[in-house]
Amino acid sequence: MSALTETLPLSERVVNMEESATLAMAQAARELASKGVKVINLSVGEPDFKTPKYICEAAKKAIDDGFHQYTPVPGIPALKNAIAEKLKRDNNIPATPEQIVVSTGAKQSIANVILALVNPGDEVIVLGPYWVSYADVIKFAGGTPVIVSGDIDTGFKPTADQIGAAVSDKTKAVLFSSPSNPAGALFSEDELKAIISKVPENVIFMADEIYEYINYVGKHTSIGSLEGAKDRTVTINGFSKGFAMTGWRVGYICAPVWLAKATNKIQGQVTSGTNSITQHACVTALEDSDNLNKSINEMGEAFLRRRDLFVSLLKEIPGIKVAVPEGAFYLFPDVSAYFGKTAPDGSLINNSVDLSLYLLNNAHVSSVAGVAFGAPKNLRMSYATSDENIKEGAARLTEWLGKLA
Ligand code: PMP
Ligand code: GLU
Repeated sequence: MSALTETLPLSERVVNMEESATLAMAQAARELASKGVKVINLSVGEPDFKTPKYICEAAKKAIDDGFHQYTPVPGIPALKNAIAEKLKRDNNIPATPEQIVVSTGAKQSIANVILALVNPGDEVIVLGPYWVSYADVIKFAGGTPVIVSGDIDTGFKPTADQIGAAVSDKTKAVLFSSPSNPAGALFSEDELKAIISKVPENVIFMADEIYEYINYVGKHTSIGSLEGAKDRTVTINGFSKGFAMTGWRVGYICAPVWLAKATNKIQGQVTSGTNSITQHACVTALEDSDNLNKSINEMGEAFLRRRDLFVSLLKEIPGIKVAVPEGAFYLFPDVSAYFGKTAPDGSLINNSVDLSLYLLNNAHVSSVAGVAFGAPKNLRMSYATSDENIKEGAARLTEWLGKLA
């Protein structure tokens, strides 16, 4: 057998890495749909809206204007300026363009920062339930994720004392999302201040604010604006969720300059600057404030209506315990009452993975098992889909959960 057809040993780094559970479930749902099955896809977290027209027009103009070349690695100056202005305007973060690094999605931004900060043996405290990719990227860098979690009874947020107790002399950073994926939890200013007081000054905060604009409570506080955290926070954000631009692939960080430079060095060797056309469209996305506010409000109203609809429908299903999220577009019900039950074909539902697969294969409703987010009692269901799909999805869940005995 030639070396080209033989399986050669892969790096331990990749062998030990888990596949992204969100993307794996989305792919499973797509495959089922491609066989002609009508799947209600509640697995992948992406707005079902089209990108607002004013942004699409700006992209077309950028093509016609000839912006076809490589860009500076950390982003075009106009976008870095627009992001710095946005951070001052919306987040009370006194950002300068040197602190901004634009990347191919917030996913790359997070990986850049972890790879720049974490040595083998270092620890990163991850507030749970947490977004799937955090733990694996930390492990990829040789670090150890230290998970500190809240559950449905604590609003899916760990307390400052719990976080403080997890700090060790190996702790490099504290990583969290607010509003959070998967639970839609929002950290208040007081909660963030309490966390700052418990985390030593040599530890970096990594605040993933990608769901910032999908907020049903109204007040978003960035930890990077607060005393004691200003000089040691990496604010992570992007265009995928708030602007319905998942496929355009733009994310960014605002970091202390020394750290921004380090991530720039990594990006310069791995991917270079992200797509030139997208970057020009993103300048318009941020600077055309009338259209920006209009699109945020329109999407926000739809998400709020769908959240309330889905919560009310899930509450009617016996055995499901559901909280009302303050942001993002996911419900994260506790479904552990179904563990230990038996499906009509005689198979046992042992855990969230079994339940998620049972629902996919029988109800044709896709969700993501909570274990991937560090919460084994839960399932994540996205309501970034039509009201009709939510109603149909809830009806199927009721029917098929009702068959478990
Ligand atoms: N952070 C969180 C919390 C997310 O849910 C996602 C999902 N897309 C990302 C980061 C990555 O976003 P993107 O790479 O599309 O900018
Ligand atoms: N962030 C989204 C999710 O959690 C998109 C998929 C992914 O990038 O993991 O579903």
